Amino acid sequence: MPPTSDLGTYDAIVLGLGAMGAAAAYQLAKRGAKVLGIDQYAPPHELGSTHGDTRITRIACGEGPEYSAFAARSHEIWRELEAKTGLDLLTQNGFLAISGAGQRSANHGVARFLDATVAAAKAAGVSYDLLDSAALRQRYPALTIVDGDAAYHDTVSGFVRPERCVEAQLKTAAALGAEVALNEKVVSFAQDGSSVTVKTDKETYRASQLIVAAGAWLPGMLKAGLAGQFMVTRQVLYWFRARSEAAHALFSPARFPVYIWQLPAPQSIYGFPATGGLEDGVKLATEQYDVATTPEQVSRTVGPDEVREMYETYVKPFFPGLSPVCVRHKVCLYTWVDGARFVIDRHPDFQRVIVASPCSGHGFKHSAGIGELLAEMVTAGRKPDPRFAFS
Ligand SMILES: Cc1cc2nc3c(=O)[nH]c(=O)nc-3n(C[C@H](O)[C@H](O)[C@H](O)COP(=O)(O)OP(=O)(O)OC[C@H]3O[C@@H](n4cnc5c(N)ncnc54)[C@H](O)[C@@H]3O)c2cc1C
Repeated sequence: MPPTSDLGTYDAIVLGLGAMGAAAAYQLAKRGAKVLGIDQYAPPHELGSTHGDTRITRIACGEGPEYSAFAARSHEIWRELEAKTGLDLLTQNGFLAISGAGQRSANHGVARFLDATVAAAKAAGVSYDLLDSAALRQRYPALTIVDGDAAYHDTVSGFVRPERCVEAQLKTAAALGAEVALNEKVVSFAQDGSSVTVKTDKETYRASQLIVAAGAWLPGMLKAGLAGQFMVTRQVLYWFRARSEAAHALFSPARFPVYIWQLPAPQSIYGFPATGGLEDGVKLATEQYDVATTPEQVSRTVGPDEVREMYETYVKPFFPGLSPVCVRHKVCLYTWVDGARFVIDRHPDFQRVIVASPCSGHGFKHSAGIGELLAEMVTAGRKPDPRFAFS
């Protein structure tokens, strides 16, 4: 799509500067595009989907082989950004997908997530090993492994720092000439011939193309027929304190990987190694898809009953070294599409508007690579995978 020639317009405006928007702004600036990023807050912030210290990254994605290339490319981009900024972004300490015999909770809508992960590893050429319950118990004494549990394990996966990635990309984008408008809320956008007009609570801007990367605020910007395919859900991250320094040490990144565990419990659990000291706790979380919410309505407090239920159902039976003391919790929002799908597509009514909703609870690991896709949709007419189209 050709850029407009008017002075005072941008090649692209990026609406929302969270995981996806920051990545897109960086990649656009890197390609020499005249870009403006707008956010209603000052990312990184704690009101959307990109906070809580860590995100799992995996190249073998049980959600589908179409995702692997984005994660692999993101790893390269994060290493490039680490070299540019001096920030520590990516730790490759390995990944476990644990499951077992009998009925297990699905992960990201995939019932046999371990098998799907193995298939994705084969497709992506990722080396892995398979562990039985005896090997799991021996390697990971922090876990109470159930008889018959088995696991996929690889060493290319690990965790990434979401807030630092946003910060690194926004800083680097600005250094490359991107303009950034923070604490400015977009109130409307519309395509008019060869440009898009974006109105905020402060200004009116024009651009050749607009990328809408509004996270959980996206459904509120779309007409009902499009908004209905997105469901925003409240998720809670917990940090539980270990019972002792010795128990905490079992979670050190040198010996403990990130994991997704299809438990014999209502929900799967996922978690991380300890990234700080004893008092910083060990982070883990489940996922719920039962109750829809909005960024405006969501309860951002976590009550003692919720913490107790998390501990009794998911922590105590499976993590003997963690105590009931929850040192921290955070509420975060998923924007879910059926089948744990991403939507990255041109707006059906406005061909100069690209909508990016790659979340469904597994988007961060792909964000740097998706930023590149979004930038190339603007500058080079790159087409997204048809599996990411609006339904
Ligand atoms: C609890 C939790 C755990 C997760 N775990 C993982 C994981 O382990 N691995 C993984 O890969 N992924 C994970 N994810 C998913 C991943 O974090 C998200 O897919 C990703 O962060 C989404 O980024 P985003 O840019 O779409 O949204 P956000 O980062 O929320 O950004 C949207 C931005 O748009 C701005 N905005 C919205 N409306 C307006 C407006 N009108 N005007 C101006 N600005 C606006 C907002 O202020 C916000 O900054 C997790 C998500 C959550 C919530």
